[in-house]
Formats: sequence, structure tokens, C-alpha cells
Amino acid sequence: MIVVASSNGRIGIEAATQILRQGGTAVDAVEAGIRLVEANPEDNTVGFNGYPNILGEVELDASMMNGRTLESGAVGALKGYLHAITLARQVMERLPHVLLVGDGASRFAAEMGHPPQPEMMLPETRAVWRNRLQPELSDAEVAQIAERTDLARWVELATDPERAKGTVNFIAQDKAGNICTGVSTSGWAWKYPGRLGDSPIIGAGNYADNRYGAAACTGMGEMAIRASTAHSLVFYMKMGLSLAEASERAMTDLRDLDGRFISVMNLVAIDKDGNHAGYSSVDGRSYIYQTPDMPECEELPRTVVPIPPRWG
Ligand code: ASP
Repeated sequence: MIVVASSNGRIGIEAATQILRQGGTAVDAVEAGIRLVEANPEDNTVGFNGYPNILGEVELDASMMNGRTLESGAVGALKGYLHAITLARQVMERLPHVLLVGDGASRFAAEMGHPPQPEMMLPETRAVWRNRLQPELSDAEVAQIAERTDLARWVELATDPERAKGTVNFIAQDKAGNICTGVSTSGWAWKYPGRLGDSPIIGAGNYADNRYGAAACTGMGEMAIRASTAHSLVFYMKMGLSLAEASERAMTDLRDLDGRFISVMNLVAIDKDGNHAGYSSVDGRSYIYQTPDMPECEELPRTVVPIPPRWG
């Protein structure tokens, strides 16, 4: 039994581990851990108080995958509701679908009885968004930003690829050996409205298969989509590679991407025996894990596979 998470999952990892200690399922553990991160206003990359899109609207992406059945659920560009991970789980368990986006996701949240959250940001976070658009846009122009027909240009200006991203990853393996992965994010700050990252894309930011292991990503989601990173890592284990070999291989796939918009990528993974790993393309990144016999989580450095950044 184990819970592995990105380091910003610290606030939720004890709750997740406690569920495993009490004999609960990996699915329940992952959902409980991520809900605490989504509710944490100090995390500007997940759930409440996440950085908004270019229009100043918080849009959430999340997914969950059950490694026993390969059932999956995801929501993308969800507005006005906080617990995207619970909604992703409900897509997985209540609908014959895998991915709901935008208005359809909000509609389903209302149907499932989620409380609406009309204000998803604190005023200081709104001010960060506003300041990011200065000095290019005046107050009057910001007030009219939803009417603009040149948003693509402003997205490029406002984006800071090194600082404006983040996501939470949770992977749990329960007493029965079942694995579940969950990913939740407010995505890339100042993104184009409707942009989905890797977090709601099964196989890109999230994949779990009890028979081999699981993986989840944070970082430049477009890269994980292009390389099918989470699925590739699990697939490499299926082909007989060890956890370390599969992780290195998934990172080198990302490094070998050609073209533009190459930035930071990170992943966490476990194999079917509960061995864990964390990788990053840059120094100084860590991940956490906790087993039921540990009173608190341990933080470990991620192994670095450098990926030279390229932008624009
Ligand atoms: N992967 C997320 C996304 O692209 C952001 C991140 O983890 O930094 O939306």
C-alpha cells in the first residue's frame, strides 16, 4: 500500500494514506487527497484560487483512472465548480463517457449536486492576472477583453512558461493491489479559453493499469499530449522495462520532441509492486510518498533528465 504525489499534494497525502490504513480503496484515497489540494487557496495551480485564463476565468481540468478496470473519467475547462476530481470520478462511475468539457461539465456538476462556486479566485490572484496584462492593456481594454478577436496574441505576451503552471498528481495502491491515479489543475495560467492540458487526457497526464503500474505528469501539458507520456511509461513497463528504465524512456521521448514550445516536464510513477519514482527535466524538483506505517510523508528529489527549453 502506498500513496505517491507531486510535492504540492502534501496537504492531502495523510488523508489519502489514512483511507488506505482503514482498508479503503485507492479510488477513495486519491479523491480525498486531491480534494484537499483543490480547496487550498495557497495553491495557485489547482482548484480554488488557481490562476485564470486570459479572460480572468478559472477553468479546471481533472482526471481519474482506475487501474483495475481501466475505467476513466475526466473533465476539462470546468467553470464555476470547485471539486473537479470528484466530478471526474462521477464521469467515470455514472456515465458511459470518459471526458466532459465546458458547459457540459458544469451542467453535470449541477446534476450531481455540486455546490456552485461563482467566485473561484481571491482578489489578490485577480490582481496578479490584471498586472500580468499590463502594460500592454489599459484598464478599459481589460474590461473589454472578452470582446477581443486577437486573444492569441495576448496569450503569447502574458505567458510565462517557467512560472505560470502547476498541477497535483496522486497515485495510490490499496490493500487489494488496485491502483488509481488522479490529476487536477487550473492549467496553464493566462491560457487561451478552452485550452485543455494533459491533465484531463487519459494517456497523456494520467494512466494506470494494475498489471504494470501507473504514471502522472505535471509541467507543460502540451508536451505530454504530444508524447502520450503517462501511457508510454506504463507501456514500457508492459514491454518489460523496469520502473527506472521506463521513466527514463518516457522522459527521453519528451526530450526528443521537435518543434516549438518545449518547457519543463515532471512525472511520478509506480510499478505494480508499489516501487515509486519521480522525474523532472530540471533540478530542484521533488515528490512525496507515504505508506500506512509512516506517520508522515517523505519528500524525495526527482531524478533529472534534462530537456533544453525552446520557446516561440
Ligand atoms: N500540466 C498542466 C497543464 O499543462 C500544468 C502543469 O502541471 O504545470 O495544464
